[in-house]
Amino acid sequence: MNQARVPRAEAVIDLGAIRHNVALLSGKAAESGAATMAVVKGDGYGHGALPVAKAALAGGATWLGGCSLDEALALRRAGITARILSWLDIDVDFGPGIEADIDLTASSRRELARIVAAARVTGRAARVHLKIDTGLCRNGCPEYEWPGLCADAADAASFGAIDVVAIWSHFACADELGHSSIAAQAKRFDEAYEVAREAGLHPLRHLANSAATLTRPEFHFDLVRTGIAMYGCNPVPTDDDLVPAMTFRSAVALVKRVKAGESVSYGQIWTAERDTTLALVPVGYADGVPRTLSGRMDVWLDGQRRPVVGRVCMDQIVVDCGDHEPAIGAEVELFGTGHDGAPTAREWADTIGTIDYEIITGMYRPRVTRRYV
Ligand code: PLP
Repeated sequence: MNQARVPRAEAVIDLGAIRHNVALLSGKAAESGAATMAVVKGDGYGHGALPVAKAALAGGATWLGGCSLDEALALRRAGITARILSWLDIDVDFGPGIEADIDLTASSRRELARIVAAARVTGRAARVHLKIDTGLCRNGCPEYEWPGLCADAADAASFGAIDVVAIWSHFACADELGHSSIAAQAKRFDEAYEVAREAGLHPLRHLANSAATLTRPEFHFDLVRTGIAMYGCNPVPTDDDLVPAMTFRSAVALVKRVKAGESVSYGQIWTAERDTTLALVPVGYADGVPRTLSGRMDVWLDGQRRPVVGRVCMDQIVVDCGDHEPAIGAEVELFGTGHDGAPTAREWADTIGTIDYEIITGMYRPRVTRRYV
């Protein structure tokens, strides 16, 4: 094993997996006549927004979604020409977004007024998606303000300041199949659409995230916004062939024999019951390994799962290898595709009571190098 080849902490991103996953998702959307938006916020859920965007467009997405205008503008500056929607901007200057052909979101009359003002300054029509809050109670326009927002939008559209592209909303519980809020939100979305039509607007509609894309074709409308599934993590129990795109790996830095009775790492929470071989792996919570996985995680090393023993430290974990002696530099897979029963990001999430979104996005940190394959 060549030690130099395995960096200390590396996220290997399989862009082929992203293309594959997006092709699967956009195929489902296309069956309903919908286009696909690849959601690349959070630096592409920790995978790198630009490479992911390119892979997703190659896989069949025609739109990109980033949370902020900054994220959208960074993609434009990098040469992405596809439609990009941003949706959470705090009192930014919308002018550069309009100039760069970014689709903008208005969640209130105030936001719309700011977009219209920026459009007047730039002399170009802004492309606007009106967001209605149908029950998630995050961003999105409250229902009591919606008729006013639609009226303002129709007015601004009539003098060419904006094009109203779409109305949209976001589900709270689409990953909980049959949850009563799904139908309730869909009903409020229909009602909001009617209000928009009555105001003279003829917008597209988009509502579905990954879970709804996979399970609720009736909510695909004109466009689906897929995030987690295109990274290969399935938020719903379907048997769709999604392939996790991120493998997190490191390498063995040091190997030592210890005698029965020796304890490992801070707090000495684990004690060897027999003489054993320990492998030190130089990653820890500064690299995205949650400390709460202490005593509750395995790694894949030399063809099998092996337990991490003792506390997860800032930059080190210790693997119990029994009578096996791994080579210095041997590859250690912390999570990945789950091949042969190896650990996955979902397994980490389930163990510590979170979601795989948080695990993979948490790999977006300077100490973790990224390699694209
Ligand atoms: N649409 C919006 C507004 C979002 O905030 C997100 C992600 O949280 C998505 C779509 C994609 O959701 P998912 O990753 O569950 O597909």
